[in-house]
Amino acid sequence: MSAALSLDDVKSRASALSFKGQAFIDGKYVDAQSGRTFDCVSPVDGKVIAKIAAGDKADVDRAVKAARRAFDKGDWRNQHPRDRKAKLLKFAEIIESHATELALLETLDMGKPISDSSKIDIPLVVRTIRWYAEAIDKIYDEIAPTDPKAVSLITREPLGVVAAVVPWNFPLLMASWKIGPALATGNSLILKPAEQSSLTAIRIAEFASAAGIPDGVFQVVPGLGEEAGQALGRHMDVDCVGFTGSGEVGKLFLKYAGESNMKRVGLECGGKTPHIVLADAADLDAAATAAAWGIFFNAGEVCNAGSRLLVQESIKDVFLEKVMAVGRKMRIGDPLDPKTQLGAIVDDTQMNKVLSYIDIGQKEGAELKMGGKRVKTESGGYYVEPTVFDRVQNSMRVAQEEIFGPVLSTITVKDEDEAVRIGNDTLYGLAAAVWTRDINKAFKVAKALRAGTVWVNCFDHGDITTPFGGFKQSGFGRDKSLHAMEKYTELKHTWVQLY
Ligand code: NDP
Repeated sequence: MSAALSLDDVKSRASALSFKGQAFIDGKYVDAQSGRTFDCVSPVDGKVIAKIAAGDKADVDRAVKAARRAFDKGDWRNQHPRDRKAKLLKFAEIIESHATELALLETLDMGKPISDSSKIDIPLVVRTIRWYAEAIDKIYDEIAPTDPKAVSLITREPLGVVAAVVPWNFPLLMASWKIGPALATGNSLILKPAEQSSLTAIRIAEFASAAGIPDGVFQVVPGLGEEAGQALGRHMDVDCVGFTGSGEVGKLFLKYAGESNMKRVGLECGGKTPHIVLADAADLDAAATAAAWGIFFNAGEVCNAGSRLLVQESIKDVFLEKVMAVGRKMRIGDPLDPKTQLGAIVDDTQMNKVLSYIDIGQKEGAELKMGGKRVKTESGGYYVEPTVFDRVQNSMRVAQEEIFGPVLSTITVKDEDEAVRIGNDTLYGLAAAVWTRDINKAFKVAKALRAGTVWVNCFDHGDITTPFGGFKQSGFGRDKSLHAMEKYTELKHTWVQLY
């Protein structure tokens, strides 16, 4: 979508949209078997914009049967790699040709600014699917260096039926991190979007069909977590669940797997990222901009958000002023306005959770330096100001628990050793960052931080070529990069004896 569009242009495009709310099973849109639906409420203004099929066990059963049938028939996994590649590329192309519509759906559904959904989310979805498509006919298997009288093949095979259970913060992007590698490796995939953000997942299902991906290979079953999500987690014929969301639900998927068929589970369960700024950082303005955007981007609804700012004491006051100056300039407003930088929180439950943490932080003794309130109440939507706490102790709940909102907790540290100790003192280990001009210190700190990704002198940089996932209770398994393909394949060894 062009940046030159006005709010009126975007609104008129949004008002022309139609919303599909049905499940997509075995190549067709269908209602939930029960006929039940739930409301899709837009956080932009609190209004109901669609009815979504409330898929449950019966719908999951239907989808799993179709997925298994497609897998067994082999129409997808046994296609020539270059044909599978061509179809996934076509899928990406159709998504790209509907980029404006998808960006609008994402914004209306979960409240992120249209400039983000159109310039970040949807282009990255296209890039992700395209990148995995391109990988299909470029990856080779292995031959082990065994006795010359044998040929020992080590090959990767698709798992079968994969379920992707995804959150609402980057609805289609998180889905694409599962769709790309799971389909590229030949699996059948069932996607369960979050109840707050089902619209784009439902819409792209027909694009997969139009691209020639066989029926049953890509299906979408919307529904509530406890119903559709749990049914996938407990299904005896689902081979793998790729999950992104809260640690609490991640643990449930481990339990479901243990109580059913030991299906493979990959978990990406969030974090409490330490963003460390040492006194010798070369560019404090750049670090302050990164620290502010690191927590306020996407209204803080980011699993790797830099929610704990660990600043060396000699620069703390000056640095925090710089961070707040960036935060104060951020334009919070109607997500449909192309000029908006900070949109709505996904729903009233999440907004109230964020506000309750702001209250908890103050009661715990942290100093509220900026923000802290709900704004734009008259819109009917759910908006919270960029909020900054100072004098946070790492033992406080605002430093330990994932708030998933625009709330920064600032902790003062003496030196890099204390920064590492506090940085690691959390259940999570998704990401971390350090700013310093000393290359030795940078490597030392990066090595000591227990996190799946460490940024040095930057924040939240990445690429589809780089793996993403966590240590500790941030989960296990990796999204993105070729490593994600390991999650959706089984390793087979075939020993051929030569006579
Ligand atoms: P959840 O972990 O509850 O939801 C993630 C996905 O799991 C959704 O599709 C959800 O469905 C599904 N789910 C929920 N309950 C169950 C269940 N009992 N069995 C099977 N599947 C289930 O995250 P929320 O969306 O509720 O957000 C809550 C908190 O999780 C946030 O405040 C944040 O702290 C964290 N979170 C972390 C994310 C990350 O990227 N790490 C992303 C989103 C949230 P449904 O939507 O229908 O409940």
